[in-house]
Amino acid sequence: MALIKFLGTAGARFVVAKQLRYSAGTVIKSKSATLILDPGPGTLLRLSSARPKIPIESVNGIILTHIHLDHSTDANIILDSITEGGLKKFGVLFTTDEALNSENRVILPFLKPYLEGIFTLTHGGIFEFKDIRFTSFKHNHGAETYGIKLEIDGKIVSFVVDTLFFDELISYYKNSDYLILNVVRLSEKEGVQHLSVPDVEKFIKYANPKKVIMTHFGMTMLKASPEKVAETLSDKYGVEVIAAYDGLTVEF
Ligand SMILES: [Zn+2]
Repeated sequence: MALIKFLGTAGARFVVAKQLRYSAGTVIKSKSATLILDPGPGTLLRLSSARPKIPIESVNGIILTHIHLDHSTDANIILDSITEGGLKKFGVLFTTDEALNSENRVILPFLKPYLEGIFTLTHGGIFEFKDIRFTSFKHNHGAETYGIKLEIDGKIVSFVVDTLFFDELISYYKNSDYLILNVVRLSEKEGVQHLSVPDVEKFIKYANPKKVIMTHFGMTMLKASPEKVAETLSDKYGVEVIAAYDGLTVEF
């Protein structure tokens, strides 16, 4: 059995700052590995307060898609925790060159020797860790950002993280069993490099997803009620659309 668990579903500055939703990351658990995707603020806390609890010692590593703080804040403390402060050489980190090496790096250099493996995401790059295999695709989001398409327990699970919509996204994430979209906004807005509900409709129409899960909500989505938006889309297109909530676990 494999699962994904949304420890938090907050997107955008205000929702994160006010903690209107939790801003923790997403757990990806296969038969033999547990990775945390985008460990934003509160991830360590939400791991220990999850029911059932997710012991930090069961975590094998992190996939960090970009440097923005709502995605990266808890990365260092998790890497420090799983390596027991460097006593144990352990764990893997998949992230961007910007997060590792730039002036805006968010991974503290002193942690790097603690880890068993550090892998730099690239466009079309294929990565494997135990029984999890994934491809990373470059997004358009200001910061260097990659979405990921996972193959896990025979299913294709795509995380279309922060990005402005562009047509190639459809081809990257085509035919996903679970298409997870970071839907910050209800409607499009000039200069905002995030997906909105009209973009979700393009994915439903052209990317042939079996199920769609929306997450990473900003204020306009929360005001509109993500559940209502999901229901409207499901009815309109006949595809199951789910609004993630804090703690949602999807088993497959
Ligand atoms: Zn971002």
